[in-house]
Amino acid sequence: MQTDKVQIFDTTLRDGEQVPGCKLATNEKLVIAERLDFLGVDVIEAGFPISSPGDFTSVFEISKLVKNATVCGLTRAVLKDIDVAAEALKYAKFPRIHTGIGTSESHMKYKFKATPDQIIERAKKATAYAKTFVEDVEFYAEDAGRTDNEFLARVCEEVIKSGATVLNIPDTTGYCLPEEYGAKMKYLRENVRGIENVILSCHCHNDLGLATANSIAGVINGARQIECTINGIGERAGNTALEEVVMILKQHPDLHLFTDIKTELLLETSQMVSEKMGMFVQPNKAIVGANAFAHSSGIHQDGVIKNRETYEIINPADVGVSESAIVLTARSGRAALAYRSKNIGYELTKIQLDTAYNQFLTVADKQKEVRDNDIHQIMESIQISAGALA
Ligand code: MN
Repeated sequence: MQTDKVQIFDTTLRDGEQVPGCKLATNEKLVIAERLDFLGVDVIEAGFPISSPGDFTSVFEISKLVKNATVCGLTRAVLKDIDVAAEALKYAKFPRIHTGIGTSESHMKYKFKATPDQIIERAKKATAYAKTFVEDVEFYAEDAGRTDNEFLARVCEEVIKSGATVLNIPDTTGYCLPEEYGAKMKYLRENVRGIENVILSCHCHNDLGLATANSIAGVINGARQIECTINGIGERAGNTALEEVVMILKQHPDLHLFTDIKTELLLETSQMVSEKMGMFVQPNKAIVGANAFAHSSGIHQDGVIKNRETYEIINPADVGVSESAIVLTARSGRAALAYRSKNIGYELTKIQLDTAYNQFLTVADKQKEVRDNDIHQIMESIQISAGALA
């Protein structure tokens, strides 16, 4: 079976930066953009140029800096927005304008106070206008997740005729179920004339914790681009996490899909973005959380020490984690204590291990975690020295 590439469209600097408190200065955005380019993302959404002079400058400077990725600027379906985005993207090697309009009933009725036909007219006009500046035009049907499929198909067909090269189907409010979102992609693939000439894109939000699942359902049903952010940061509950979708496709060759991301850079990229944006990564976060490769229960530790694959489906080195952590707590067993003691120079006989383990449990019941300096103290208290021959 043929293996297909899924493009990674990173919107850390646009949707991610919309998070309160995550605002970055241009020089910080440049450092992140350069890192994303090196990481291997296909598209960097660098900002929303008309929104502020600072954002314009960021998109302008990122366009000059990025060597490999397409640089994309967001616009509304407003001609002035498109003029400003085109100017900001002027020096990009591969520029893309991202334009669009809301297509759900509530967006058409309350946001735009327009009829479906008027919405289609605006969509066509914006797409055709963007096309006069750049070859690569992505159209988003905002709130596509809650848009009637038949109407969405009509919008898609019209903007393809106007020159769109990528169709973004955002689940803006994070409402869809994976099956529903996947079915939406399938419906578009089967009902839109010209769809084979464009790339369908997933843009999912995590309001119900389904952003990753929905994006994967999207690509299983024919989408070939995922819009995502490092650490899943973004409006409200966030966007699809880049590291999650990338590792899902890598760990599941049965899906016959791949990305060009250098996965061994995921952890340091995550830490860099977290630090620059001041957004803490929860310890139990998939792939990049501090505990993603840490084992603390005795049964799991014994298994991992014997063979990592017993409790790990990802090789930590593949995402840039140096090794699995065997964390010592009151739930740990002798195997873990022997392993950690050996790492810092104590080769224990069976009898020594029994004595050390009793001492260890007393310490472990008093504190959350037993660290290397505690092990040294335990050994000292039972008169075992490092490097001592068993
Ligand atoms: Mn969004």
